Amino acid sequence: MQVAVAIDLALDRLFTYSVPVEFTEKLCVGQLLRVPFGGREARGFALSIDEDDKDLDAPVGSKREEQGCLAGFEEFQAPKGVKVKPILGIVDDAPFFSPALLKLVKWIANYTATPIETCLKTAIPAAVLKPTARPKELLYVSPAIPLANGEGLTKHQHDLLADIARLGGGWLQPLCRELKTTPATLKTLAAKGCIGIAPRVSRRDPLAGRKVMPTQPLELNSLQAAALAKITADSTVPSSQNHSSPIVSTVNGDVRTKFGQSILRPILLHGVTGSGKTEVYLQAIARELEKGCGAIVLVPEIALTPQTVRRFAGRFGDRVAVLHSALSDGERYDEWHRIRTGEARVVVGPRSAVFAPVKNLGLIVVDEEHDGSYKQDESPHYHARDVAVMRGFIEGARVVLGSATPSLESWLNVKREKYVLASIPSRVAGRTLPEVHLVNLEEEIQSTGHLPVYSKFLLDAIASRLRRGEQTILFLNRRGYSRVLQCKNCGWIAACPNCIGHDDGDGNPALPYTYHESDSCLRCHVCGDWRRVPTECPECHARDFIYSGIGTQRAEGILRRCFPHARILRMDADSTARKMSHDDILSAFRNRQADILLGTQMIAKGLDFPNVTLVGVLNADTSLNMPDFRASERTYQLLAQVSGRAGRADKPGEVFIQTFSPDAPAVKAAADGSTYAAFADAELAARSEGPYPPYCHLATLVFRAKEEGLAASWSVLYARSLAAYADKFNAVHGKSFLVSEAVPAALAKAEGWYRYQIVLRAPAAKDLVAAFKWIRTARPLPDGIRMSFDVDALNLL
Ligand code: ADP
Ligand code: ZN
Ligand code: ZN
Repeated sequence: MQVAVAIDLALDRLFTYSVPVEFTEKLCVGQLLRVPFGGREARGFALSIDEDDKDLDAPVGSKREEQGCLAGFEEFQAPKGVKVKPILGIVDDAPFFSPALLKLVKWIANYTATPIETCLKTAIPAAVLKPTARPKELLYVSPAIPLANGEGLTKHQHDLLADIARLGGGWLQPLCRELKTTPATLKTLAAKGCIGIAPRVSRRDPLAGRKVMPTQPLELNSLQAAALAKITADSTVPSSQNHSSPIVSTVNGDVRTKFGQSILRPILLHGVTGSGKTEVYLQAIARELEKGCGAIVLVPEIALTPQTVRRFAGRFGDRVAVLHSALSDGERYDEWHRIRTGEARVVVGPRSAVFAPVKNLGLIVVDEEHDGSYKQDESPHYHARDVAVMRGFIEGARVVLGSATPSLESWLNVKREKYVLASIPSRVAGRTLPEVHLVNLEEEIQSTGHLPVYSKFLLDAIASRLRRGEQTILFLNRRGYSRVLQCKNCGWIAACPNCIGHDDGDGNPALPYTYHESDSCLRCHVCGDWRRVPTECPECHARDFIYSGIGTQRAEGILRRCFPHARILRMDADSTARKMSHDDILSAFRNRQADILLGTQMIAKGLDFPNVTLVGVLNADTSLNMPDFRASERTYQLLAQVSGRAGRADKPGEVFIQTFSPDAPAVKAAADGSTYAAFADAELAARSEGPYPPYCHLATLVFRAKEEGLAASWSVLYARSLAAYADKFNAVHGKSFLVSEAVPAALAKAEGWYRYQIVLRAPAAKDLVAAFKWIRTARPLPDGIRMSFDVDALNLL
């Protein structure tokens, strides 16, 4: 018997070992093994097992494949004549990956052109794999049964025994505190056989100490009920549809689903803000639990607030496991094992929770499916929404993608009938969407002579909320002062020496420092570099500086001057460093300890505060002016999401959006919450012209080097070779494979590394991967230059 093992060394190949007979019974794929490697011991995952030492590269559908094992790893075969070494042992009999999860990880490795071992490592928390990781054990005191006879005990000892029996035992330390005694005293009693003291596993519970009120299912309105019916229905791919979608075609072999051979199509749940999508998820999950199945709920990390967690824990209690970045290693270890054993059946977490080892997975919900945080910014560059869809396909689980502002990718998939649309076009309980007013900043300047941070309209609206005791959310698309420091005399701008931004034609390609008032520092928001404000201009030695732009700190200052009696909270990336955490800020606001919440992107998503009746967007244009073909889509999403925070309960809401571009389609559409379809269709028409995604797949190839010439010359060479490759490819396949020129990236220098970029576009992602794999081998890069490849890139800067 032989086994193919993925060892965590990013070597992008598997290694073959023989299996000594003492392990053959126990061995299965997905286990972590100890193996000899280069004279030392290494650990790696068993990916494929061959029983009879022949036919190593077993074709798909072979005996092993039928048994749920993976075969067909091209790297599997050991070179002829090489003597394979035996494995040393099995770290844990329980496999870390099910065959289905291995299949998923292999798909990611192929789709993103990333070594399989890197992908395996992404799919499992490091806290679980640490050699020292284990459950936490504490001493537990249990009353002896039958109750010990109390001969030879003091009165005090008798009393202690009675108390312990009354309490039914407990953890040693807290028990001692409660009974005002010492561990030594109790250990004496244990030595006499009056009580038992023994180690017990103590769960590290991320929700410990949090009040979670149990909730009952709400009665759904007819729109919610219809959406739930679609989610729970057995909707299959229409037979007219061939399975040539990029996702479907990448799976080899057949897929058994819970409903025979049918494939459950993902549901796109398009519900306006406040339409009660979460209640629909909760009830869909409840159905799965009744069937004995489990569920995963993905939420953007930023939306993983205690409020969100409470909604799920309140309904499903201990069956909920939470995974997020703020957990301790111990909590993460325990939560992961609770999921693997089936003790926890509902997982709530960000992107990486898509890999949670849920037993008998029936449903995956991707809430706010349009959110950019689902895409991993480092290798492997996977998109959790797409991985969710793929996992649902492999495991026969239903996938629900929910959003008030779906991504154009998902919207097009609805039009192509790959996804089923479920719509909730209005808010629950007859509540209306807020009334949105656009404030034209151009006109404001003309009438007042200067650019106000708050227009008169907005100030009046805030004042009326303060009078009525209602709350206001103000949204600003920046953090810090976002003020640029400029010499009044010669125009010099304080900029980061490590980073260069996008040259937008104003002749100033530098990435300016941002001025932070709290500590009078200049900070680079890309690399984190900082310095004190200079006393004089380094160019002309003048001592007069001006500032431009606004940020949350300055906006807060002005607001305090306008409304000296208002209680104001600010929330942005800087405010965490201060005494209140984000959770504290949000609960203070929820408990009406403040009148106004002012913040950045962080406050745009998922928050549900009933008393908020006013939302103000101070500058809608920041995201509109980004050098990215998705700028319009993102602006729409951002504006619609922030607006959606207003008027979520009985009192109607009102929104003011301040902008220089009131006629931009994204701004206009966001001003009317019910026009998503019209906006999306127009935007799709524009994208198809390029073509841009979702009408093609787009990948970026980024070159980084400390020496600019190196990055420049190699990216130019690559662009030329790839263009020639594309010509041939297009001639043969009649497709349109497009290769951009090599250009300095919009973020041309970051952390001291020069960045050059090539953009590739092709009808299928696998065409992009093939081109990348070809050139990587055909033109090996020299030392000193790094290259990263990102299929379906969301970040083009
Ligand atoms: P969304 O996620 O679509 O923005 P939520 O799920 O947050 O909306 O729901 C908004 C509010 O409406 C929540 O406070 C929720 O408890 C309430 N709600 C949801 N469904 C119902 C219903 N059927 N009846 C009454 N209230 C509901
Ligand atoms: Zn100067
Ligand atoms: Zn910098």
